[in-house]
Amino acid sequence: ADDVALDPWGSSSVSDYRKLFEEFGIEEFDEVLEHVPNPHYLMRRGVIFGHRDYRPVAEALQNDEPAAVLSGFMPTGDPHIGHKLVFDEIIWHQQQGADAYALIADLEANSARGMSWEEIDEHARDYLLSLLALGFDPEEGTLYRQSENRELQDLAFELGAEANFSELQAIYGFDGETDVSHMQSVVTQMADILYPQLEEPKPTVIPVGPDQDPHVRLARDLAERMRFFKVSEAYASFELEPDERDLVADFYERLEPAEFDDDTLRCVHVAEAVEETPLSDLEADADTLSSVLTKLNEAGMEPIRPRTRFSDRRATDEAFDALIDAIDGEKRVYENHVDVFDLDLAEAEELARQIEVDTGGYGFQPPSSIYHRFMTGLTGGKMSSSIPASHISLLDDPEDGYNKVKAATTGGRETAEEQREKGGKADECPVYELYAYLLSGDDDEFAKRVYDECVGGERLCGDCKEQAAQLMREFLEEHQEKRAEVEELLEDVDIELES
Ligand code: SF4
Repeated sequence: ADDVALDPWGSSSVSDYRKLFEEFGIEEFDEVLEHVPNPHYLMRRGVIFGHRDYRPVAEALQNDEPAAVLSGFMPTGDPHIGHKLVFDEIIWHQQQGADAYALIADLEANSARGMSWEEIDEHARDYLLSLLALGFDPEEGTLYRQSENRELQDLAFELGAEANFSELQAIYGFDGETDVSHMQSVVTQMADILYPQLEEPKPTVIPVGPDQDPHVRLARDLAERMRFFKVSEAYASFELEPDERDLVADFYERLEPAEFDDDTLRCVHVAEAVEETPLSDLEADADTLSSVLTKLNEAGMEPIRPRTRFSDRRATDEAFDALIDAIDGEKRVYENHVDVFDLDLAEAEELARQIEVDTGGYGFQPPSSIYHRFMTGLTGGKMSSSIPASHISLLDDPEDGYNKVKAATTGGRETAEEQREKGGKADECPVYELYAYLLSGDDDEFAKRVYDECVGGERLCGDCKEQAAQLMREFLEEHQEKRAEVEELLEDVDIELES
């Protein structure tokens, strides 16, 4: 199978998703996979296909350092097997040691979807029960609903001061008719995304479908604005000489249009650009600024996006070590343009000390994200909550689940004969997806066997669906038993649910 839409074992660089990589800068998950400790099967099988800046999270998990995972659920209907992907992602991160957050986006459901509070309560309960039944540990993790979280609301208010209408208009297509609550639900969502970092900045991942990427991008921008604004206040005392200022400004302007006026901040951005750019990646003869920038861009770096919190002494030291190396190192590729960094050690240390000053502001790290594929509907097309036959609800009667799988479309051929000859099209088969995304669980061998037997013509759709349908029935039976068992846990969860 060359032209695969779903290649469970190999690369996740798939044609359908290529646009996301090219146009929006979502990176291929494969590239970070080797840094992920005990990767989840959804990662191994390329169901999680893309990410934005996931590496800091993977590294934190690897090194037992603080990290967080957060995702929200808009309780507009029953949780279904598509939502299970996100539940699994949250739970897996929790099991790897991340602080896990799951929230009920009730304000969004009310303002953006017009759901009544009663409906929201009922569905919220179902989402939470399934999340707990699948293994979320409520003692270690945090569950909340937007409308009840006071700190969240305060943070949303502050973030709202950093965003304006034109921006929301550009991102979400809001217009003069958009109601204010809807806009408020957007800043609330931004606050959700940054909420795990309220106490302490840490790498945080938001597992979502690719359609949610605009939220992630806006949250990343806002995180930076909050940080720069606060940090800049701490730098006022570090002055640059006029020609130093010109040089930095010149360098910085070419990196990115200047958004921040503080010269020292520009200096820091450049310093961090240096930190993130291994000098070995730059050719020694690339001694003009434009070629340096070309290399930075080719490397996919975002030179003004620092990854470290300014008040983190160690990170700051590393940044300045790198800076000093850049100045003194044999490859003086920057020398024409960053003479300004000819700080002596004492000056560099002084700057580092000032950077270390706790600014008292938010030191948000730009949040990371991972993206999973959407499941194909059982009837073909998109899986949709509003078309019952297209999805399997986690609340479906197990017998209904069995029947829906039996009635699903497949990637099978016209006749059994043709199928034996040419093999089935597992890559286009919603039933195969069920095996890969859910029914095989952690058993890669099993999923691979189904795939190989299908494309090799040994597997015929009738038996294949029968097997999948039985597995689905078992899964639903088991899941629903667990839901009943965790009812008690839900009692202890500090969330107000009318029921
Ligand atoms: Fe899909 Fe199974 Fe048929 Fe292959 S044999 S096309 S996996 S239903």
